[in-house]
Amino acid sequence: MATNPEFIQVNPLFARPGEVTLAPRYQLGEDQMAPDTAYQIVHDEIKLDGNSRLNLATFVGTWMDDHARRLYAESFDKNMIDKDEYPQTAAIEDYCWHIVADLWHAPEPRSTIGTSTIGSSEACMLGGLAFKRRWQHARRAAGLSTEKPNLVMSSAVQVCWEKFCNYWDVEARLVPVTDEHPCLDGHDLADYVDENTIGVVAIMGVTYTGIYEPVQEIAAALDEIQARTGLDVPIHVDGASGGMVAPFLQPDLVWDFRLERVHSISTSAHKYGLVYPGLGWVVWRSRDLLPEDMVFEVSYLGGNMPTLALNFSRPGAQVLLQYYLFLRLGFDGFRKVQQASQDVAMYLSKGIGANDAFTLVSDGSDIPVFAWQLTAGHTDKWNLHHLSDRLRARGWLVPAYPMPDNLADRTVQRIVVRNGLSLDLASRLLTAITEETDYLDRLEAPMPAEKHHSGFAH
Ligand SMILES: *Cc1c(COP(=O)(O)O)cnc(C)c1O
Repeated sequence: MATNPEFIQVNPLFARPGEVTLAPRYQLGEDQMAPDTAYQIVHDEIKLDGNSRLNLATFVGTWMDDHARRLYAESFDKNMIDKDEYPQTAAIEDYCWHIVADLWHAPEPRSTIGTSTIGSSEACMLGGLAFKRRWQHARRAAGLSTEKPNLVMSSAVQVCWEKFCNYWDVEARLVPVTDEHPCLDGHDLADYVDENTIGVVAIMGVTYTGIYEPVQEIAAALDEIQARTGLDVPIHVDGASGGMVAPFLQPDLVWDFRLERVHSISTSAHKYGLVYPGLGWVVWRSRDLLPEDMVFEVSYLGGNMPTLALNFSRPGAQVLLQYYLFLRLGFDGFRKVQQASQDVAMYLSKGIGANDAFTLVSDGSDIPVFAWQLTAGHTDKWNLHHLSDRLRARGWLVPAYPMPDNLADRTVQRIVVRNGLSLDLASRLLTAITEETDYLDRLEAPMPAEKHHSGFAH
């Protein structure tokens, strides 16, 4: 029994001395705080976040099994850069990108080059930088200007490509999406490609709709341009989602290193690689396609380690989680997991498409991601932002957002189905969508006009 009753630990918490207070937010507090109070404050504040399992906006993993949790807890202290100190973590990183290179049909997966990254954004930056550097070397060798590099891609690219162009002074040549050409498909490519084009980006799993860009057709259009003009323009495939879906669900689709023009491919291991946030992969078709001068030999960690990365320190645990999953699932397990997600996506798109209010933009048959729009003329009382708000009040996070140029006047709503959204849970979502749509359709007056924030999660 404590002698001073003030210090008896009673429930509820926050009744003890010093606890009936506001936590310091933008400056350090003067004194210490009891650890359980500090813990509880942080723990409670993030309860105000959305529920990650019901977050159908994100592509990023929100569920892993208990073995993965255990491994994560055992390895969250590993720094990926300490390759000399943690040689087995470094070796496991190597196993993983070799496995990925093999999945993507690298002609010689054992001798090519790749690395882990913090996600697709860093992986795309490295792919883009390799293009820029190769182009600069070739232009300088030919005595030509390196002033005005450009990169050709769809206007529906993920924002990381706009960042790449902005941060590294490359002109972004955006091919607009239209009703006839909902993605980059090789049409009119000759109007965009010239001697200053460092490469073309093809997206396997467009963020806005989930559809695959036909890499083979894009490559054929570039073959034709080369035959006519001599310009040899390489492709980087942004397979942030599709890179870990297509090998399992569409094994006959030719989009990867089977196409010679594809120099590099990136993916987010934390999307359909099924790992918690913080991991991506990038692999080159062969070693010679990555300029030597992008690889740094670092000696000060002990040993002499080649590194290729934008970051220095970075968590290593996710790499171990990826290898755990590769071992645990094997090819057949990955296929089953992705197939289950696709089955749920198709079930949901069928249910939503059957509602007269909605017209599907895609159905989830590429990656398990699909989008829909309001059927023209269905209502003038509400829009998809209102439906998104109604669903949010029930816990479901289903974003509505405008399409990119030239379809920016069109609003779509999107669902990303990931491992962990069971068919049963999905049936609850379908019920919620039906009920909330019925509610909105029964309105006697239009919803008040307001400026909606974009709920778009990239
Ligand atoms: C998510 C995504 C990215 C960015 O990936 P991060 O892993 O979040 O950095 C890039 N491209 C596409 C097509 C994406 O879907």
